[in-house]
Amino acid sequence: MPPISPQEPWAQVSEVLRLIRSGEAQTRPELADAAGLGRNVITLRIQAAETLGLIQPSGELRSRGGRAAEVWEVNPDAARLLVGIIGANQLRVVLADLRLKPIADHIVDWPYSGPEETCERMAQEMEALLADEPLPLWGVGIGMLAPVDFFTGRSADPVTPTVAGQRWPRDFDVRRWFVRRLNTPVWVESLSNLMALGAAAEPGAPDDLIAIRMELGVGSGIVSDGKVHRGADWIAGETNHIVVQPDSERICMCGRLGCLDAFAGAWAVEADAHKAIAQGRPTVLAAKDQAEVDLDAIVDAAESGDIPAAEIVLRAADALGRVLAAIVTWFNPRRVVIGGNALASSQLFHGAMSRTLYAVALSASVRQLELRQGRSDHFEEVLGALTMVRDALFSQTFLSAWGPLGAPDRVDQLHTRESQF
Ligand SMILES: [Zn+2]
Repeated sequence: MPPISPQEPWAQVSEVLRLIRSGEAQTRPELADAAGLGRNVITLRIQAAETLGLIQPSGELRSRGGRAAEVWEVNPDAARLLVGIIGANQLRVVLADLRLKPIADHIVDWPYSGPEETCERMAQEMEALLADEPLPLWGVGIGMLAPVDFFTGRSADPVTPTVAGQRWPRDFDVRRWFVRRLNTPVWVESLSNLMALGAAAEPGAPDDLIAIRMELGVGSGIVSDGKVHRGADWIAGETNHIVVQPDSERICMCGRLGCLDAFAGAWAVEADAHKAIAQGRPTVLAAKDQAEVDLDAIVDAAESGDIPAAEIVLRAADALGRVLAAIVTWFNPRRVVIGGNALASSQLFHGAMSRTLYAVALSASVRQLELRQGRSDHFEEVLGALTMVRDALFSQTFLSAWGPLGAPDRVDQLHTRESQF
């Protein structure tokens, strides 16, 4: 697909939208200056955006040089966006307005049951959320617990199965599945990348950051110079399988020895606790049923001073600290956000992981590093998915395709062509 010229009228509308929503420019004179366009041209582009319902006057006036000018803002209610998060054991569906503010947020338990069944259940949840929604749906973002070929929306090479031995098959066309079902443009991305994209969309976020997403394993997403770095094979950020200790006897899900996941993955931590109980170590976990000895219980015990549980949590923290020390020294992010499961929100884990990181990393690379815990409601990945859909819809490429038609659902090619934006 040939690139869109910045002189193209819809490319200019896209730029006007970007300036307004980022707050960089909001009045006609400000927009003309920021976009480098004449006042007459900028008036036409503002009109085009207003005709589509994308912007509205905020009712405020801002004076500059003695004349008051109308302030423009994004119209949140031109349409709706929808996000579907397919986690390890849950599905989450979020409906949001065009300012990315959630209107409905729904979570259901769902043990992964194969791609078709999982997509079907997700679609049912989405349809239930849309049933009472009068506004049109303009785009859907799907987050998956697997690498994704971002151009085609297909699952990429599965690195490892989940604990239950299930995995997304290679080349399952997630985008096409949801486009056919919902008749709306769809974008698909891995949850780790969405978490990074969401962390980067927070106000004041730096352009270079890493998001560590802890669920079954310890994945990560990378934002470099404001953009997600996906790698040549879509598997950048596989912190899970960085070898921490090659002479370890810990077998990872990938079949190799000593990976980070084999120390800090939820499955490995749970296996360690079961082993400690079997060895007769004095731990409060021994009094529980085997099924109750899960990550939450282990972290609780460790935080309460249970020594065998604390040893397991500290070993996991040390492993992640070492991996982070290497990638922080190499990549030099300004911020690292760590979120997800009970380990990620444990102060004991966080403190120990930080100590290893700061002790092992090159001091110049951590001097200004901001180490943060992720939000407890995991909103980063939702915000990441909403940002992905919004930025795609209003990109120069896509707006040039659907702007003349009035709504994105009427552009068939949006559904299938490569999403370069
Ligand atoms: Zn591995």
